[in-house]
Amino acid sequence: MPQLKVLISGGGIAGNALAFWLSKLGHTVTVVERFPSLRISGLQIDLRGFGIEVLKRMGLDEAFRKHAALEDGMNIVDDAGRRWAYFGANKSGRGVQSFTSEYEIMRGDLTRIIYDVTNKERVRYIFGTTIKSYTELDGVDGAGVEVLFADGNKERFDLLVGADGIGSHVRKMMVLGTDASDTGTEVTNRDDGYVPLKGVYIAYFTIPSEMKAGESYAATSYATTKKRMIMLRRHNPHTIQVYMICETDNPRMRSIRRGDVEEEKKAFAEIFHGAKWRTEEFLKALETNEDWYLERVGLVQLDSWSRNGRVVLVGDAAHCPTASTGMGTSSAMIGAYILAGEIGRHCGRGDDGSRGEQHRVKDGLAMALKAYDDKFQPFMKRVQKGLSRDTGFWWMPVTWWSVLFARLLAAFIAFTRLNIVGEYFLSESVGDWKLPDYEELRI
Ligand SMILES: Cc1cc2nc3c(=O)[nH]c(=O)nc-3n(C[C@H](O)[C@H](O)[C@H](O)COP(=O)(O)OP(=O)(O)OC[C@H]3O[C@@H](n4cnc5c(N)ncnc54)[C@H](O)[C@@H]3O)c2cc1C
Repeated sequence: MPQLKVLISGGGIAGNALAFWLSKLGHTVTVVERFPSLRISGLQIDLRGFGIEVLKRMGLDEAFRKHAALEDGMNIVDDAGRRWAYFGANKSGRGVQSFTSEYEIMRGDLTRIIYDVTNKERVRYIFGTTIKSYTELDGVDGAGVEVLFADGNKERFDLLVGADGIGSHVRKMMVLGTDASDTGTEVTNRDDGYVPLKGVYIAYFTIPSEMKAGESYAATSYATTKKRMIMLRRHNPHTIQVYMICETDNPRMRSIRRGDVEEEKKAFAEIFHGAKWRTEEFLKALETNEDWYLERVGLVQLDSWSRNGRVVLVGDAAHCPTASTGMGTSSAMIGAYILAGEIGRHCGRGDDGSRGEQHRVKDGLAMALKAYDDKFQPFMKRVQKGLSRDTGFWWMPVTWWSVLFARLLAAFIAFTRLNIVGEYFLSESVGDWKLPDYEELRI
């Protein structure tokens, strides 16, 4: 089979995982990343269910464990910081994970682990640029996609992959036309598959905080009225991660221009005004904080992740399931594995170096991308079940009564040790869906 020439836009978890597998299959890959270097920012992420199995099939279990975050569970606390419940991580190797997975890690560490083991003889990385547009070719002069980069260079590829995250520009071009502009997750009136959840925002930042004697690495979660939550996590003895989560129709928040960090912080101060526990301390820390990142929470839902056998999406760009499902990174890893597996199955290996059999490339890719949709869409439908534009984060309490009820329920579940967190509150359980096994990808 001919060697494929693949362009991946986005060097995050999905882009690197796909580059890893395709280079194992002997194909040549270019990864173009907007950031000037490997983008290793971001806070704690985790792997669950089949995401863990894919990590093992990549041979990266040990490397992951070396860098794993030490979080061993999560406390649920009240206004005074009193503990109502504790959910330990499920380290038994059986059943679904809890709020804390057995596989917790900082985003940058997982990105680097995959990047480091990716074969650089077959994968070329271009940092600090983006794709401006592409043209599908299907004539005597050539076949595939011709890509115009923002720096003015042009190059032909057999396949273009959008692994450029939730605001994917490749997705916009694929769905809306190749003149679609790169607007991130800004909501436009043109539907490109991005579905913002009703008024849901998550702010992420870190603050210096020395670990005290007797303090553990457990996360702490505090929920209060009006759909407001704060979660703390610790990944080293000197820093804590703060997550402020809310569902709101605050007018200030709704009118903020994209990227106006000062306004975002002011809006959060307004929204969290009056909340108790350590809220004041975090709002104060915000004033001088420099790694604040605000996510306007949304999903990506498309009936098909590819067009014409030449352009395909993977990871958040294709099917972002929101942070509330706990399945973003696992879905990205599983999707990259299935896409590579189907390419291996229908297009074969590229090791023999032959080129020029374009009709076979075209047919093989068309079959591979269709099989990727057929096999993986049912998984993502299960993961995204119940989430839509109108639902928001329905499970967050509004009144004091519902806050009290939520704490009592948490205490009951923790006390009775019902292992139902991953089953009902997160979306790890995907029924009888099975991870395909690709002989072509066996290491
Ligand atoms: C900086 C950052 C911080 C994050 N922090 C968290 C976190 O704290 N907790 C959490 O749960 N999830 C976080 N996420 C999201 C999480 O990484 C993903 O949900 C999940 O891992 C799936 O990964 P992905 O590779 O599909 O997308 P992403 O991890 O979003 O990676 C997309 C990559 O594409 C690049 N990119 C974007 N646009 C273009 C473009 N036009 N051209 C070329 N490259 C482009 C981005 O720079 C990024 O490297 C973060 C993502 C990013 C980018």
